[in-house]
Parts: sequence; structure tokens; C-alpha cells
Amino acid sequence: MMRKWPRRVRAPFLPVRRPTSLAERAFITFERVIKGGLFACSMCGNCLLQETAFICPLRCPKGLRNGPCGSGSLEHCCVDPDRPCAWCLIYWRAEQMGRLDRLLEVQAPLDWNQVGHDTWHQLIRLAWQRGLFAPRYLSDREAWLQQVEQLFYDLRQPDWWQGDDAYHPPHSDQPVSRLQAALQRGEFVVTAEIAPPLSASGESVQRTADSLRPFITAGNITDNPMATARTSSLACSLLLLQHSMEPVLQVTARDHNRLSLQSKVLGASLLGVRNVLCLTGDPPMDGPGAVGALPFDLDAVQIVWILRKMRDQGIFLDGRPLKEPPQLFLGATGTPSAPDLGMEARRLHKKINAGVQFIQTQLVYDLDVFEDWLEALDKRDLLSKAYILAGIGPMRSVRAAHYLAENVPGVRVPTDILKRMEQASDPREEGVQIALELIERLKEMPGVSGGVHLMAMGWESVVPLLVKEAGLMSRFSD
Ligand code: SF4
Repeated sequence: MMRKWPRRVRAPFLPVRRPTSLAERAFITFERVIKGGLFACSMCGNCLLQETAFICPLRCPKGLRNGPCGSGSLEHCCVDPDRPCAWCLIYWRAEQMGRLDRLLEVQAPLDWNQVGHDTWHQLIRLAWQRGLFAPRYLSDREAWLQQVEQLFYDLRQPDWWQGDDAYHPPHSDQPVSRLQAALQRGEFVVTAEIAPPLSASGESVQRTADSLRPFITAGNITDNPMATARTSSLACSLLLLQHSMEPVLQVTARDHNRLSLQSKVLGASLLGVRNVLCLTGDPPMDGPGAVGALPFDLDAVQIVWILRKMRDQGIFLDGRPLKEPPQLFLGATGTPSAPDLGMEARRLHKKINAGVQFIQTQLVYDLDVFEDWLEALDKRDLLSKAYILAGIGPMRSVRAAHYLAENVPGVRVPTDILKRMEQASDPREEGVQIALELIERLKEMPGVSGGVHLMAMGWESVVPLLVKEAGLMSRFSD
């Protein structure tokens, strides 16, 4: 049920630096009361209302400023099920208002120096400096509106960010990793997810690397999956490299701020880790124990934007030059079974514009839905800009099938597949058979330009069997 009046997620932020004048103090109070009542404003000091159909993006508990994480809906936010997803509301209202295209612009992370301060004061001061109150604009409304647009752009896009809605292709086609090279050669690639251990021993990672090496092109090391602390994804990626397996390092917005992100990825690149998958991360509430910080410092789109600029422009986020830019192949995730296909396509459009080169999808069980998703991307001419690797997860039991169908956001298991699992005399064998049939059809599907991403969910020993039975060993013969 949608509420009539917006509800704040948190108390408004207080300024970190003291307001410098009485006027500023008055504006802060005024804005907090008016915008608080009308828009549930959190006083982020970097207002985006103009771009977000007049719904405050800070109503998202994660503080995402570039779109939804993919786990929410108009009924439920993934962090607080008692409220709608703020970004689903924004897309819905923007569609009503004919302002959807505004959502493609890549927005900056918060400048915490501005947080708690007002925006109106800055707006009026800048408008005054630019002469927007001058009588000459009385007769030229078009010119005035253009100037006002520019004014809002300059306020929301500081010099250190300068986000836009354009596509930014990589500066070089030269592959920086085996995964990128294989994709560029047009191979049907297999990647697989490897969960890091819950210990300071790397034995299990080494064992998995040894058993999967002949069968996959790269292994994804997840970053604290289900918001549960595990051995670092960077350490495990290095272990994979030492055991001759190419890693895909996962970095989540949940577990990184802007400084730790940049230093981690630079370190990863110098160690030889080149594939980086950028994600928002599961909600902190999914993990055990007390919940960590909200809102996040960054979102997945901002991570991609920062890393692409480090690689292609050779600069840190703060503008300092990098002596040696990192070599990176940038990826992100997609959700083919998202409830709103239009919103999902726009979400991926923004990520690809920001710099994403490959997409690994959430688990796919319904190929009709997956084809619709590919078509939605194709209409936006995105399939030629990023490689698509479809997520495949063999189900181990009837319970696992029902768990996926009922509890995992963004996964749709059709009833005929659930029935097959329920009626099978050996559900494990049936789960493998279903996965093989899906791979078989995906191999023929135009638009699946990358291959498959296997998510065995703790059943990594099934990966060699799947690869062999699916006839995907031949790609290693040369
Ligand atoms: S974007 Fe920031 S300033 Fe604007 S309404 Fe939301 S919290 Fe307030």
C-alpha cells in the first residue's frame, strides 16, 4: 500500500562543518522543515529532486543515488519491507511525468562536507551571480529555462565528478585479462562462483582452484556474500592467481567507501587481478549479528564510473593523476527476472554507459523471460556494448528449488521446473539435467555473447560435470 505522505528513513543529517552565516543557518532550518514535510528530505546537501521526479532518493535506506539495487519492488524495500522501494517509486513517477530519460545521468556520491547544509541558499546565490533574476529574461523564457537547467546541473555535478548520460567506451580494445581475450575471440565462456572460506586458511580455495581450473575461464570470488564476513575477496583472488586460475574480483558498495575502493582496486591490478565485478551488495540485514552502516558511501554505478576514470583518464576520484593507471575489465550484474523490465533495462543502460564491459546475470530458469530481457537490452543497443554471461545454478534438492523460487529476489523458477524437481526420483540428477538443458538453449540464443556463469551454491564439484556434459570442453582444445 502506497503512503500518501513520504516517510523519512532517518533523522535529517546535521552539518559536519558549522554554517558560516546567520542566513545559512536560517536557510538550513527553513529547508529542513519545508522539504522534510514535503519530500521526507534527509538534508544531504546535494539535492537531486529535479532529476528524480521529485521523490527524494535518500528515502532509499542504502542511500543509492543512481537507481535501485534490483532487490526491491513497489511494495517492499529490501532493507525495510514496511516501505516501498524508493527507486521503484522514482521510476514509476518519472514515467508518469515523462522524465524517464533524466534517470540516465550518472550522479555523484555525496560530498559529506555539504551534508546537513541547505541547497536553496547555494541555488539562489548562484542564480544571482549568473544574473538569472535580470529583467532581460522576462522576454526570453527559453533562454532562462536553459540557464536554470545548467544551474541545476552545475550544482549536482561538481568538478570532481561531471557525470553525464553518454556512453563511455573503453579507451583501448587491448584485452587486459584472459577472460576479456576469450570473450573478444567470441568463445562461449564459462565462469563460476567460488565462495571464500570462513577461515584464515586458503586450503579450500586452492582445492577448488585445482579442481575447476581445466573447466572454467575465470572464477568469481564473492565479496562477503549474504553480508557475512569471510576471507577477503582480494586475498582469495591472489590465491587463485597463484594456482593458475584467473580471478574475477567482486567489490560491493556495501563494503567499500571511496578510499578503500580505489586503493583495493589499484592493489588488485598491481597483483595481476584485472577482472572486477561491481555490485551494490546484499542488504546488511541479511547477515548475522548487529547491522553495519547505512547509507552506503557509493553505489554500483558510481563504482564503475570511478574505476573507468582511473583506468582511462588516469585519475583518482579527487582528480590527482595516477602514475600508472590500473588495467581493468569491468563487469556488473543484471536481473533478467526483474519485475519491471523497463526499469531493469534502464538500470543496465546506465551501468554500461558508465563503463561496464560484461554482465553476469542473476540465476536464469525461465528462458522466455530471459529472451524478453535480452530484447529490452537490444532495443537500447546494449548487446553490442557488453558481453552477457547468463547465470546458471543447478538445484540440489526440492527444498533448494522452493527456496530459490520463494526467497531469492530477482529469481523466477517456473512451475514446470518446480514440478520436475518435485516429481523426480533423484532431484540432484534432475537439477543437473535442467541446468544442461538451459545451457543447451543458451548456446543457440542470439544475444548471449559471453557464455554462462555457473553459481553452484556450495556444490562446486558439479561444475566439471556440467562443463563436460554441456560439450563446452572443446573450447580448451587449442
Ligand atoms: S536529494 Fe538530498 S537535499 Fe534533496 S530532498 Fe533528498 S535528502 Fe533532501
